Amino acid sequence: MSVTRDLIEADDSMLGVLLRQDPELAEILLAERRRQSTTLQLIAAENFTSPAVLAALGSPLANKYAEGYPGARHHGGCEIVDVAERLAVERARDLFGAEHANVQSHSGSSAVLAAYAALLRPGDTVLALGLPYGGHLTHGSPANFSGRWFDFVGYGVDAETGLVDYDQVRTLARTHRPKAIVCGSIAYPRHLDYAFFRDVADEVGAYLVADAAHPIGLVAGGAAPSPVPYADIVCATTHKVLRGPRGGMILCGGELAERVDRAVFPFTQGGAQMHTIAAKAVAFGEAATPAYAAYAHQVIANARALAAHLAAEGLVVTTGGTDTHLITADPAPLGVDGKTARGRLAAAGIVLDCCALPHGDARGLRLGTAAVTTQGMGEREMRAVATLLAEVLRGGADAAAARNDVRDLVTEFPPYPE
Ligand SMILES: *Cc1c(COP(=O)(O)O)cnc(C)c1O
Repeated sequence: MSVTRDLIEADDSMLGVLLRQDPELAEILLAERRRQSTTLQLIAAENFTSPAVLAALGSPLANKYAEGYPGARHHGGCEIVDVAERLAVERARDLFGAEHANVQSHSGSSAVLAAYAALLRPGDTVLALGLPYGGHLTHGSPANFSGRWFDFVGYGVDAETGLVDYDQVRTLARTHRPKAIVCGSIAYPRHLDYAFFRDVADEVGAYLVADAAHPIGLVAGGAAPSPVPYADIVCATTHKVLRGPRGGMILCGGELAERVDRAVFPFTQGGAQMHTIAAKAVAFGEAATPAYAAYAHQVIANARALAAHLAAEGLVVTTGGTDTHLITADPAPLGVDGKTARGRLAAAGIVLDCCALPHGDARGLRLGTAAVTTQGMGEREMRAVATLLAEVLRGGADAAAARNDVRDLVTEFPPYPE
């Protein structure tokens, strides 16, 4: 479909308004929409939000300044947005069975920053999964505030199995007596043993922070174990499997509620983004439905199927499979490293990330099934995806032909009604 055709069709929408006023920018939005619906989205951290979430994001709530919390704002005129935030908080608490929820964090990283601010002082020791094994930037990267302000000690995964080295977690905790232990990862395909982390934290007198940015959407759908009963603070994003707007949130018990709230505002953030908070409320509402629970389970079924087909095609799947939406795999047996593989796949319209692998220096591939499952793909399509991907990696398919095959597959599953 041509840009012009899209432009005409967008005429009565908000995009149509943008188009008339600023065609240069409107064309960029349309081109990105087309990219998203004509290529295969396998980035594990991405999803397609619902039109209802997009509507809240594009609403006049974006105009409202609302520093503070409902009932205690620094600005006038907050009586209506207060209702929106209370609703978001109530839905988050209900969805996750948490005593307290803060829905103001602008991103997952901001949520982690606030969690540390609530519990730690600069110079404190923190035990977290090391970055080479899938720790997030906020888990001690020297390029991030976390690595500069805290003394991070990293645990790892077993080089053979790819599973968290729980013995090492306990040993390092006993040796370093951290003030907090962080569990959570950007690339771990298995459930974490939250009860184990709680036990170690209690043994050494540490706080337990679960950074559940990835699995929280599976938790919402009852498809993965919840960290909420175990962690002092749970940090999360709202835009990954959870399928809400780009943003963060924090869950905790009542005794930390005030510290967490103050750590978000005024300590690390200013005014709340009320349009995003409203969109979070919409997403929490959607996530509480049976349809979403079915979605969350299908995400995992698809990931398991995709992992099995990728293994059958010769890739080495870390931990031998997955419990979640996320897969990491080494394409080396097909004759390519992760970085080359990502480039070749991108040329064919298959969009995914590179990631570190447990066993060494070579980089692998990280894929997720949250977005394709939202599109309506099932296990049958996962086989087709694995076949296409392996063909491209083996160099058997030329990029243009592969791109056509990818386009044929994805256009059967439009992410949004056209
Ligand atoms: C995605 C992610 C984050 C950060 O989220 P942003 O919204 O990009 O800041 C933090 N921690 C983990 C484990 C993540 O996967």
